[in-house]
Amino acid sequence: MQYLGKNRLSADEYVEGLLAGDIVILSKALSLIESHLDEDQVLGLEVLKRIFPKTGQSLRVGITGVPGVGKSTFIEVLGLYLVDKDHKVAVLTVDPSSQRTRGSILGDKTRMEQLSKSTSAFIRPSAAGTSLGGVAHHTRESILLCEAAGYDVVLVETVGVGQSETLVKNMVDFFLLLMIAGAGDELQGIKKGIIEMADGLAITKADGQNLKPAMQARTIYENALHLLTPANNLWQPPILTCSAEKNEGIDKIWASIESFCSLMNENGYLAVQRREQQLKWMQECIRLSIDRHLEQKHHNSAKIDQLRKEVEEGKLLPPQAAKVILSELF
Ligand code: GDP
Repeated sequence: MQYLGKNRLSADEYVEGLLAGDIVILSKALSLIESHLDEDQVLGLEVLKRIFPKTGQSLRVGITGVPGVGKSTFIEVLGLYLVDKDHKVAVLTVDPSSQRTRGSILGDKTRMEQLSKSTSAFIRPSAAGTSLGGVAHHTRESILLCEAAGYDVVLVETVGVGQSETLVKNMVDFFLLLMIAGAGDELQGIKKGIIEMADGLAITKADGQNLKPAMQARTIYENALHLLTPANNLWQPPILTCSAEKNEGIDKIWASIESFCSLMNENGYLAVQRREQQLKWMQECIRLSIDRHLEQKHHNSAKIDQLRKEVEEGKLLPPQAAKVILSELF
């Protein structure tokens, strides 16, 4: 094999390896698209362009929930269930904490040990990035790489703590919100907007002493959901319960995801949603490039430094300064 750099291959080698389902090449391709080096980005885009016609065939499912709700346990059991049904499953993560701290909420612990041993599953922790938008952008590219490598279910996990849900919602076909039964305070702590984004809700840990509270929580959510605006007026999001520990309810959740997708395939909604998502991705790329360009200018421009100083000192209005900076950029 001809190496271009220490770990870098030629575009042909990436493409051939990906289309052959080679997981070593898939890992290398994922590292390539995460690289900040200009030459890697050019090569990464070339690889993506060439595999693009072989993508899009997977069912993309976003899974969110607060830390401790049981996401990784659920994804492991769901992944094993799908592998058992002859699916090839890729698990990707969008981790908002990886930007702020060096550690991450999702990546630090040993997660999904059993699933990671399966030859039909591929688990990739969150890409590090300078911004959450950057991480989301890499995740979209990662979805395409996994699809080219033959994964027909892509699970995108994110922590339910803020704006990452919206980003993930914009890259998947079905968005699942995991929730945990609490002592009557089910609707606290979860933003109404996140519930409205969900195509399905599942109350986790419905086992043992937690079974009754889980059932009660289900009724509370069912009542609450009637008062909210659903993400999609052709679909009433189901509220299900499950126990990943006892392997109960996982099949019903998957059946519900499948029936959503077959209905939305028939009526064309999924295709429209994917088209809109592509356009949103393009907008995000434009915004990211402008941000990056601005950052570079900030570092190199005495004029921008001066404008920042004047804004800080209250000598110049922020919109005025922004106008001057933007006129420098374009
Ligand atoms: P995450 O932070 O959302 O990824 O949550 P984890 O999957 O790490 O689970 C958090 C805790 O909940 C762990 O101690 C799990 O063992 C426990 N847990 C996860 N799923 C279940 C379940 O179905 N039933 C019960 N009783 N506990 C569970």
